[in-house]
Amino acid sequence: MPPLGPIRFLTIHCAATPEGRDVPAEKISAWDTARFGQVSYHYVIELDGSVHATLPDTFKGAHVGGANTGNVGVCYVGGVDKAGKPKDTRTPAQSAALRKLVETYRARIPDLIVRGHRDWPGVAKACPSFDVAAWLAQAA
Ligand SMILES: [Zn+2]
Repeated sequence: MPPLGPIRFLTIHCAATPEGRDVPAEKISAWDTARFGQVSYHYVIELDGSVHATLPDTFKGAHVGGANTGNVGVCYVGGVDKAGKPKDTRTPAQSAALRKLVETYRARIPDLIVRGHRDWPGVAKACPSFDVAAWLAQAA
């Protein structure tokens, strides 16, 4: 697998799985491997807030079209309602774990740019179904 390169970005995704469905990280990695030939995300955060390192952050992921160099991908399980419409379905445990992970990388890389998938140019998706900048601006 190609190397990630120096980390400059952290991009947040959702798995687009229905609210409340407890999908294990291994399953998401298996879906991505079937579809893209490799694991897409560096981390998957399950409903209980457990953080699974699915790909070492020294390897390039496959989570933002054309922009995976230096880009750490984090995916939370959920992101759509039961009808399949985009919805911020993060459990409190997932939100807390996500914030902690972002803070860990920010401590390592002070000029890290953190954004949602949909904040990348040319992305016509709702992923990760919430406003990352607004969420980051909130007090923990
Ligand atoms: Zn995404």
